[in-house]
Amino acid sequence: MLAAAILCKSQRSRDDFLFYLFILFFALLPDSDFLFGFFTGDPNRYHHLFTHSFAFVVIAGLLGGVIYAKWRDENIIFSSAIFISAGISHVILDCLAVDRREPFGCPIGWPFSQKFVISPVLLFSDVTRSSDSSLFFPSLFNMHNLQAVSIELFVLMPVLFTVWMLRKSTGYRKTAISKM
Ligand SMILES: [Zn+2]
Repeated sequence: MLAAAILCKSQRSRDDFLFYLFILFFALLPDSDFLFGFFTGDPNRYHHLFTHSFAFVVIAGLLGGVIYAKWRDENIIFSSAIFISAGISHVILDCLAVDRREPFGCPIGWPFSQKFVISPVLLFSDVTRSSDSSLFFPSLFNMHNLQAVSIELFVLMPVLFTVWMLRKSTGYRKTAISKM
């Protein structure tokens, strides 16, 4: 979904570094819930709560889209759709990952439903991390997490590669048309 949105962007205008920074921000925003727990001494305390719901990422992406569109004179619907897609992609990927802490999965229907959802088929590994704020960042660097990232890259790289190839081909086509 996000890849398709980025591809669509490439057909509209030149690459925009700031735009990709915004996408990265909204793709990572659900994990801002680590910050809430970080200050209580346990970064994991509020992880996978309301920031991992569709309502949160839709509202955040919509606001981001309005701000970005006004600032950069872009289309509000287009910008919002991409930022929302970035957030939804994060939540879906988390639902496809191993979760060792109850309740398992993400509360995707919050605030309308308190049910946590996790895929019956898990494609990705979990990320081990300390529950102690002072050890949190050093604890991220270990072989298990390296393996988890490698699996995600292995699954997602073909998608990114396909998008890159499609962008290249549309770029060539546009250049050819402009020379006619
Ligand atoms: Zn997450």
